[in-house]
Amino acid sequence: MLLAITEAGRTISLVEKWEKQELLNITENERILCPACKEKVQLKTGNKRIWHFAHISKKNCETQLENESEYHLKGKIQLFDWLRNQGINVEMEKYLPKIKQRSDLFVTWKDQHYALEFQCSTIESTVLLKRTKAYLRENITPIWILGGNRLKRSSENILKLTAFDLLMTNSSHSKTLTLIYYCPATRQFSIVSSLTPFSPINFLASVDFFLPTRICFSKIINTGRVYKIPSDPIWLSMKRRWRTNSYLFADDSFKRIFYGNGLPLSLVPSEAGIPVESMIWIRTEPIIWQGWILLKFIIPLKVGAVLSFQEIFQSFKAKVQQGFFALRQLPFLNDSHYSFAIMDYLQQLEKLGVIERDFRERSSFRKIAELTVPKNVEEACRLDKMVLMKLYKKSNI
Ligand SMILES: [Zn+2]
Repeated sequence: MLLAITEAGRTISLVEKWEKQELLNITENERILCPACKEKVQLKTGNKRIWHFAHISKKNCETQLENESEYHLKGKIQLFDWLRNQGINVEMEKYLPKIKQRSDLFVTWKDQHYALEFQCSTIESTVLLKRTKAYLRENITPIWILGGNRLKRSSENILKLTAFDLLMTNSSHSKTLTLIYYCPATRQFSIVSSLTPFSPINFLASVDFFLPTRICFSKIINTGRVYKIPSDPIWLSMKRRWRTNSYLFADDSFKRIFYGNGLPLSLVPSEAGIPVESMIWIRTEPIIWQGWILLKFIIPLKVGAVLSFQEIFQSFKAKVQQGFFALRQLPFLNDSHYSFAIMDYLQQLEKLGVIERDFRERSSFRKIAELTVPKNVEEACRLDKMVLMKLYKKSNI
């Protein structure tokens, strides 16, 4: 940590410039304490490491959550400077006695409080959720900034995100989710948006890089990015890979239900496994949950017949409760719900000309065209491309 107090109550912040001797004079003559637990801490100075304070006995300081690495300390100092250079009121490691938490950086801006947490290591999900909730209860907006070391890209637009990373998604007023990363080594922010999962941990996304001098605090908290459907050929190659072999690794319960209805998983119609805005909620592969909706509701329906969103949702919900479909935990997205993913999917099917809205009843749709069940994987991949192109054109008018 970078902040300590003397017994007399004087604050010593290591983000300020100090002469080594000046600091040593204080620490040699006075007891230096942790502002949270009031236990003794010691000053660690060295040529290589960033100067910091450390508890002498590690036992029970509640706020000692992150075992701070050099990377974390550096990032915290750089983020502090970045905010201060914008004239923003920022406090390092402010201790909030009411909730017994210490935020890495505490910002007061336009009568609003923000707790910026620079998270580089993985901690217990329950701890992170508890911290998020405590801040919100105190009317403090938590902003999680992930260590750039957590950004795992396997190509320009593909990244791997763990369930833990996703707990740190930020949402501005729209339902668009973003992840903010900062790397103290390259001194760069990366903002990840348009998160579109194609498997439980692989996502297509837009990644934008910014130097701290080119992005301000208000832009970070109100990223307001509009969701973009990935047009990427990567989506098609992932789908091809899935059709040729990944489906073999799908859970037996899925295989049973598809084969039992005479539909091999590799030949699911191309209208399944398409990108849908809110589908981040659903952890199960999109081709499986969307395929299930086609299999259970759309394929058996006669052209001209009507089905309601409620029917599909209730049935889906039962499958979630049985553990057949898995969901993701997104604590920040409180104005959305996994049912949005289902509705968004039905709207995509509408764009594809499979169903149309039935205006006599709310949230009902009429089937207007039969789906093609491909005969082989080659045909399926050809159709996948056509479907994605059509969707992309309709979504970008
Ligand atoms: Zn302490």
